[in-house]
Amino acid sequence: MFGLIGHSSNFEEARQKARDLGYEEYADGDLDMWCSAPPQIVETLSITSATGQTIEGSYIDSCFVPEMLSRFKTATRKVQNAMELAQKQDIAITALGGFTSIIFENFDLSKFQQIRSTTLEWERFTTGNTHTAWVICQQVEINAPLLGIDLSTAKVAVVGATGDIGSGVCRWLQQKTGVGELLLVARHQQRLLDLQTSLGGGRILALEEALPEADVVVWVASLPQSLTIDRESLKKPCLMIDGGYPKNLDSKVAGTGIYVLKGGIVEFFSNIDWKMMAVADMENPQRQMFACFAEAILLEFEGWHTNFSWGRNRISIDSMQTIGQASMRHGFKPLGLNPATLPLLASTAH
Ligand code: NDP
Repeated sequence: MFGLIGHSSNFEEARQKARDLGYEEYADGDLDMWCSAPPQIVETLSITSATGQTIEGSYIDSCFVPEMLSRFKTATRKVQNAMELAQKQDIAITALGGFTSIIFENFDLSKFQQIRSTTLEWERFTTGNTHTAWVICQQVEINAPLLGIDLSTAKVAVVGATGDIGSGVCRWLQQKTGVGELLLVARHQQRLLDLQTSLGGGRILALEEALPEADVVVWVASLPQSLTIDRESLKKPCLMIDGGYPKNLDSKVAGTGIYVLKGGIVEFFSNIDWKMMAVADMENPQRQMFACFAEAILLEFEGWHTNFSWGRNRISIDSMQTIGQASMRHGFKPLGLNPATLPLLASTAH
């Protein structure tokens, strides 16, 4: 059995979701009430792979919302309680979706293995970041050429380059894809220098310096909603892979010559009978999902009951390749640019 731990994008959405699912007391509750709310198993489902194999899983809403990020104890408790619930349900492999993996890592929750009477078994959990990194790299490799961008000479900016996903993406794009030049963007300079050394290349730039130079921008940082981007200064065409969470680039930059693709999203080959991705705002919620969730599903299909993605900056090209092959085998495909717009793309690319 696989598990998916998730949360709503914001408090209002959480209340609406609670109303839709029939949890009236939560729908009417204030943020303080939500802070003390326990995690809920809101859906159980089965999925059949392209190979014909069927597995069962559960979606656990941690009852965390991003408005709680500043409340350290609440945020950590939400993640720990959801993990405890997953383990008590004897779920073999559970993905930590959205902010839950970031809270786990940033607040160093691996130090707190004992939750009441439960000793958390780390091998039952995965961040899903290896599959996310692989999917994002595929999205770059497949979609850039559709816009007339030659990756062997292109400048590719990775915003969040030193992060867990970002560093895996940088390694792949440099060593497997062989992009023209990597532009490395993050705030902490020493981490950028360490990454540059480990990659043996890449140019460190501030965000506002990198954007006008980039043919492709991979966003793998949770950026403030207040971020503004000067569309006029961007190259055209420019492919933007919006891999961060929440996804908010489209409204900021999409327009003539600038193509925004939701990053780290996969599409399954057949419909799944679940509700959770409709509330996650997917265009085709019966088939699309976050790649991190798909990683837990893949690990269950393969019987790899192990914390495949764990810790920070350990994603290797080999592990990306392994999970990528499983992804294709079981019927997942990285989300691509809308084919209906491609003739238009081809004409603007030259
Ligand atoms: P990490 O915390 O490991 O990395 C975040 C990176 O972003 C770091 O390089 C950090 O460096 C950088 N960063 C943060 N704020 C800024 C800023 N204001 N300007 C520039 N750089 C910044 O996160 P992950 O790699 O685990 O996740 C990255 C993103 O991907 C998150 O938004 C996450 O929610 C999303 N995600 C998406 C998934 C999917 O399935 N689609 C799955 C998992 C995660 P520094 O602090 O030095 O700036």
